[in-house]
Amino acid sequence: MGDVPRDVLGPVAGGPAEPAFDGDHPPRRDLVDDCVHCGFCLPTCPTYVLWGEEMDSPRGRIHLMKQGLDGEPMTASMVSHVDSCLGCMACVTACPSGVRYDRLIEDTRQQVERRHPRPRRERALRGAVFSLFPYPRRLRLLRGPLRAYRASGLRAAVRRSGLLPRLAPTLAALDALAPRIGHATRLPARIPAQGRRRATVGMLTGCVQRAFFPEVNAATARVLAAEGCDVVLLPRRQGCCGALSVHNGRRAEARRFARALIDAFDGAGIDRFVVNAAGCGSSLKEYGDLLRDDPAYAERAAAFAGGVRDLSELLAELGPVAPRHPLPLTVAYHDACHLAHAQGIRAQPRELLRGVPGLELREFADPEICCGSAGVWNVLHPEPAGQLGERKARHVLATGADLLVTANPGCLMQIAAAARRLGGALAVAHTAQVLDASIRARPVTDLLR
Ligand code: SF4
Ligand code: SF4
Repeated sequence: MGDVPRDVLGPVAGGPAEPAFDGDHPPRRDLVDDCVHCGFCLPTCPTYVLWGEEMDSPRGRIHLMKQGLDGEPMTASMVSHVDSCLGCMACVTACPSGVRYDRLIEDTRQQVERRHPRPRRERALRGAVFSLFPYPRRLRLLRGPLRAYRASGLRAAVRRSGLLPRLAPTLAALDALAPRIGHATRLPARIPAQGRRRATVGMLTGCVQRAFFPEVNAATARVLAAEGCDVVLLPRRQGCCGALSVHNGRRAEARRFARALIDAFDGAGIDRFVVNAAGCGSSLKEYGDLLRDDPAYAERAAAFAGGVRDLSELLAELGPVAPRHPLPLTVAYHDACHLAHAQGIRAQPRELLRGVPGLELREFADPEICCGSAGVWNVLHPEPAGQLGERKARHVLATGADLLVTANPGCLMQIAAAARRLGGALAVAHTAQVLDASIRARPVTDLLR
C-alpha cells in the first residue's frame, strides 16, 4: 500500500477519549450525510485504483470523517488515509449525489494539521517543503545550482549509481522531476494590449511556474496582449497564491498569502485576474470561502474570486482576434485535475488547440485519473506518485503524439519524468506556449525541444 506507514494505529490527537475534530471548521456533517455510499466514485479515485482498499477511496474517507464527527479519536491510521488523498477531485466529478468532497477534505486536513503531532522526520520534511515551494524568490535561488548539477555531470553520475532512490526517496523524486532550466525571463509590471484593448487583466506569476517555467508566463502574457488585453503583472509585488498551503491543511498560511495577493492588485484597475496554473486557479476561485471569517477581507476576497479566470476560460470568453499560423503537430491534451475536476474546464483548452491550423488533437485512455503530481503529493509520496505518473505516461505515449500539452506545471514535470523512466522522450508544453507559437508563426521545433 504505497509508502504510507500504517504500523502505528493508536489515537494521537490528545488522549484516547478526545474526539478527532474540534469546533474550528470540522468537516460539515450535512455534507458527510450527502454520501449515499453508492461507490460510483471508486473507479476514478487514484488511490483506490492503486491499492483497492475501501479506506483509501472517497467513500472510505468520508466514513472516517463521519467516525470523527461521532467522537472517534484521530488515529494515525485515519491520518494516513487522509494524507494519502491526492485532492484530485475526480470523485467530485464522478459523484451523482453532488457530494462536496472538496470542502470535506479541506476541512479535515486543516484539523489534521493543527491537531495531529506528526513524527519528527515527517515534520521536518513538510517543514522543508513548505519553507521552499510557496516562495518564488527562494525557488529562484535554486536555478543556478540545479543548472550546475546538470551541466557538471553530477546528476548523471548520481543516477548511474542508483543510490539516491534507496537512500533518500524524496530527493530522488525531486531530482527526477527537476525540469531543464531555461533562460530567466524578467517580466515588466505591465504589458500593453496589441490593437484595440478589450480587457485589463491581472496575471498570476506563481511560484514553481515563475521559477522553473518563466517561458510559460512569458508566453501567457504575450498571448493575452495579442488577444487585446492590457496585462498587469506586478511581479515584484505578488507572491504565492496559497494553493499549496490550503490544499495541505495549512489554512492560516494560505489566508496570509491570499490577503497579500488581494492587496497587491488593489487599485490596479483590472477586469479579470488570469491564472495559467490549474491548482492555483481553483484555489483563487475559493478565496471568498477561505476568507469568509475575516471581516476586513471577506467582501474583497469574494469580489476578487469572482474575477478569476483560467487562461483558456478567458480566451474562450473573449473569442480569438489574433490570427493563428499553422503548426503541423499531433498533440495529446492532458486534463489537469484542478482544471477539469475542480473548475469544470475541459472544452475551452481543446477548442483553443483545435483553432490552430494543422494541429491534430489526440485523446488517451483514463483521462480522469490523476497523474500523481497533485501539488506536493509526489514529493511527500514518491513511490505511488511514480506509479500513477508511469500509468499516465504509458497512455500518453500510446497516442504517438508529438507533444503533450497541459495547463499545470506539476503535471508537465510529473508526466515528462515518468516518460523518461519508461525510456520514451516526451516533449511537453503549456497550452499558452502552443497558442503563442501559432500566433507568432514560430516553427514547431520551438515546442519540441
Ligand atoms: S480527491 Fe482524488 S484521491 Fe482523494 S478521494 Fe477523491 S478521487 Fe480519491
Ligand atoms: S459517488 Fe458520491 S455518494 Fe456515491 S459513494 Fe462516492 S461520494 Fe458517496
